Amino acid sequence: MCGGRNRQLRLLVIGAHPDDCDLLAGGTAVKFRNKGHVVKFVSATNGNAGHFRLGGGELARVRAEEARQAGLVAGVEYEVMDSDDGRLDTDIATREKLIAIIRGFNPDIIFTHRPHDYHPDHRRTGILVQDSSYLVMVPNICPHVPAMRRQPVIMYLYDGFRDPVEFRPDIVINIDDVLDVKTKMASCHKSQFFEWLPWVAGELDTVPGGDEERFCWLRKKLEARGAKVADKYRDLLISRYGAEKGSGIRSAEAFQLCEYGAQISREELNEIFKID
Ligand SMILES: [Zn+2]
Repeated sequence: MCGGRNRQLRLLVIGAHPDDCDLLAGGTAVKFRNKGHVVKFVSATNGNAGHFRLGGGELARVRAEEARQAGLVAGVEYEVMDSDDGRLDTDIATREKLIAIIRGFNPDIIFTHRPHDYHPDHRRTGILVQDSSYLVMVPNICPHVPAMRRQPVIMYLYDGFRDPVEFRPDIVINIDDVLDVKTKMASCHKSQFFEWLPWVAGELDTVPGGDEERFCWLRKKLEARGAKVADKYRDLLISRYGAEKGSGIRSAEAFQLCEYGAQISREELNEIFKID
């Protein structure tokens, strides 16, 4: 379905909050962009609960602007939907808003959360995409937006949860060469990476003051996150990149094919991911 060498692909990353797309697929997205493919990020909520000092409409505005800036860094459009953070619903109205966005972009591949995750918004974003996976092709649903004529491939973003079933990667991507850009993208979400998340972790006092120091501090954190993925799925990195390169990769992102989207062969998957 995605056949044809060098065809420009359209990738839609759907995260729950403005920063999930960047964090879980930012490096891979940059690699697709560098090969001339089109990428769009969507946040299913407006992120208006993710702070200890700000909240509501003010925080939603801050985060929309942070997302816009991160999108500029990555060369992707970043759309933020209007559901409240921590209160995402899988009702039909929300599903149909998402169906309209998916159809409007017409993706070859959608990336999203698995419905097994600690955060209700992540779980529900996964459910919303699953619930849309077939309906995007049904003309009588959301008739104001033309239905897609083919089903997109759906891939899950990495998570470390094992209950009720562990993430099983189908492809693991080296992001060492794009970790700087990924860090730049994440740095745009100032309210999150330099304020809210350190506050939650009780380490707000460890965040450096200067821009350059902050960048290095965050880069280290993102590299450690990516290292967990790289070390966990080292065998897949070695089979993709060869023993020498694969063993030296420090940081990676991983994705799993979802059985509710278009089903593709291993060869087709490798063809799509010819990005490095
Ligand atoms: Zn999130």
